[in-house]
Parts: sequence; structure tokens; C-alpha cells
Amino acid sequence: MVNKGCLLLHKYELGRLLGQGTFAKVYYAKNVITNQCVAIKMIDKGKAFRAGLMDQIKREISIMRLVRHPNIVHFYEVMATKNKIYFVMEYAKGGELFNKIAKGRLEKDVARKYFQQLISAVEFCHNRGVYHRDLKPENLLLDEAGNLKLSDFGLSALVESKRQDGLLHTTCGTPAYVAPEVIGRKGYDGAKADIWSCGVILYVLLAAYLPFHDTNLMEMYRKIEKAEFRCPYWFPTKARKLLSKILDPNPSTRIPIVKIMSHSWFRKGFEAESKEKIPTALISTFSSSGSNSQVEQKEDSMKATSMNAFDIISLSDGFDLSGLFVELDRRKEARFTSWLPAEAIISKLEEVAKSLKFKVQKKDGGIMKMEVTKKGRKDVLAIDAEIFEITPSFHMVELKMTDGDTLEYEKLCKEDIRPALKDIIWTWRGDQGYLQQLQI
Ligand code: AMP
Repeated sequence: MVNKGCLLLHKYELGRLLGQGTFAKVYYAKNVITNQCVAIKMIDKGKAFRAGLMDQIKREISIMRLVRHPNIVHFYEVMATKNKIYFVMEYAKGGELFNKIAKGRLEKDVARKYFQQLISAVEFCHNRGVYHRDLKPENLLLDEAGNLKLSDFGLSALVESKRQDGLLHTTCGTPAYVAPEVIGRKGYDGAKADIWSCGVILYVLLAAYLPFHDTNLMEMYRKIEKAEFRCPYWFPTKARKLLSKILDPNPSTRIPIVKIMSHSWFRKGFEAESKEKIPTALISTFSSSGSNSQVEQKEDSMKATSMNAFDIISLSDGFDLSGLFVELDRRKEARFTSWLPAEAIISKLEEVAKSLKFKVQKKDGGIMKMEVTKKGRKDVLAIDAEIFEITPSFHMVELKMTDGDTLEYEKLCKEDIRPALKDIIWTWRGDQGYLQQLQI
């Protein structure tokens, strides 16, 4: 139970409740030191843990930190107490975009502006290997200036919408915004599925009602699977054509995001907007392995100054994944991040383990068990290495001593394992030396 007006973590004065769900509540809050207004999402660790959501939460935290864009809710910090996790993020003062639509359909230029901002945010994520997978109205917020802010990379599953007006917030669990291949559980391409959801959102922006709707859920599924929808007469012809390419039930022929962005209806007024709104320094904070935008390539020289290890994923003090759930026991555990693909990390770990005479056993789910019998205080020294994918090109590896002597492990880690892995480590946390290494 959180009291309004109470001071959270010594700096956030809590205000009203903005949203609520099974595991999480979102509150308005004010940073009493800086006077900045923020939104704080509080997740009940116990409930999330029992529901098996911890890994998802860890992953989503990392993702949210990765994606910085003017149309994505900015993530300030993550903190945790014994029972709760707190996500401190940008407060979107304008509330939900769909509150506007509940009052009636938008002018086509206004609808296009929101759609451009949505696509621009989604493309930014896709270029970084991050897929939202759950694009829906509750995740589209507005800031004070009326710009769209996409929220919630995956965490939306933890919070249900409070409003139940039935129009756009369809009953929980309805697939109104979900691509046919997701419903069909066939295994799907996250990028294509997001594009479909953007199409449904564009339709709703222009019409103020859903393209696929039926009181019978099965009938609604059928309509989605056949992409059976009709555009009302006020839809501009070019917008209709674009929609028919986005709401293509076949993901392999569905229009890709680059083509949406070069479509003549989409482009109107877009260039000026994007130049003005997307500060290049933000775009270049993170190098992508996928298709880079021109801006990123041009801004290469800025990377050194704008990229800050503390700024990215899990490593800043307010953003220490390791401290989130259980305190990292530095005597027995270490974590490092790497830009290499999982296979390359695994083979490097194998190589190092073999050079240290460890027996290696690979298990499912990116887990490696390494064991060596030594003549020491305890005969066996065993270490588990678990690899977490943060994006396809970015991984976090957790090393954990599961058996043996702590001193021996510490020494081995410091003198052998860490130096041997130095070529693949981007950042390391786990022994006292890590801070110096990160201060770049
Ligand atoms: P969410 O889990 O993000 O869907 O949060 C539930 C509800 O809380 C949303 O539908 C919004 O109405 C509100 N909310 C969430 N995040 C923010 C934010 N950053 N600023 C303002 N309101 C928010």
C-alpha cells in the first residue's frame, strides 16, 4: 500500500494513481530535488516472481533502457526494495492518445502526424533488434506538447488498463490489435507483427473505431485472419492503399517499415518533423547491428562522446540489474555484457574453460556448467554461466559459483577468467575493479 504524498526512495513524492494492473501500478510523482514530474511504475516482486515474470522483467528493463527516442517514453531509472521494483520514467502529461479519439475521429493530418511518430519510434526499435509485440492504444501516450510517446516494452502485460469504455480499450484479451499470425500461434516475425498493429492503430486514428470488430470473439478472429475490413468514405484514397498493404494477412507480403516510410501519404510533412524532433545525439548513442539510418552513419564521430557505459543497460547505479532482485554476491557472482552473438560467447567461454581444465557441459536455455576437480580446500570448483539475450546483438552473461571455495573462485575469476575474456567483454561487474573499467 502506497500513500499519496509519501516520499519514495528519499526523492519522489507520490501523487495520483495513473494506471493499475495485476502486478503493477503506475503513479504520478515528483522528484523533490529537481522538481521534475515523473511516472513511476511499481511492480510487486512477489507476484511477478510467482507468475514467472522475472526474466521478462529483466529483459524489458534492458530493452527500455536501450531505446531512446523522442517518441518513446524516456526511462530514467530503476530501483528496487525488498518487495517492489520501481521504474521511474518520463511523465506523459497528455495522457492516453485514445482518450482523444474517444471524443471523435481525428483530422487526417493529425492522424498522420501520430502515425508518423509511431512508425518513427517503431522503426527505431526494429533497427536495434527490438520488437514491441504488444502495440495497442494503452501504450500510446501524449506529452505536454501533444507528441506521441510510445510506452511499455513488454511490461504492458503487467498492467491492465483502468478504463473500460468498451470502445477502444476492448475487453482484456481480445486480439483487436494483434496480427493474424500471432493469433494463429504459428511463430511470427516481431517486426511484421508490429507493422500489423500499427495498421490497426492508423485505422482507429482515422475512423475512431476498430477495423476488425465483432461481439463474437471467434468471428473477430476470422475477420482478422482474412483481413476483412472496410474503410469508411472519409479515408483518403492514398491512406486506404497504404492500409491495405499494412493489413495484409500474409506476413511475408506485408509492407515493410521502410516502404511505409517512403509511401507518399506517409511522407507528407514528415521530413521537416523528423529533423526537428529527433536529436541526432540521441540516435547515435547506440550502434546498431542492423540497417543503420543515414543519420547514424553520419553521426559516427559523435558516438564516443554520447555513448556512456553508465548510460546503457543495467550498469548505471540507478540501473543495476544485478541489484534488482537479489543483491549480487560479488564473492561468488559476476556479470558481463558483450556485443558478440551468443554462439561466439559460448565458444569463447568453452575455450577459456578448457584452457583452465574445466569440464564443460552445455544445457538448454543458454546455460553452461563448468566444473574442475582440484586439490584445494574443497575438491570441486563449479561455475554456471548463463547467457541472456538483451537484443540479438547484445548479451549479458552471468557467472555464478555453484560449488567450491569462494576465495579460490574469486582468485580464478580475477586472475584467469576475466583477463581471458577481455576481448569479448564490453562491461564487467562483479569485483571491485569494475568501476574504473567502466568510467570511459
Ligand atoms: P501501462 O502499463 O504503461 O499501460 O500503464 C497503465 C496506464 O498508466 C496507462 O494506460 C497510462 O494511462 C498510465 N501511464 C503509464 N505510463 C505513463 C507515463 N509515463 N505517463 C503518464 N501516464 C502513464
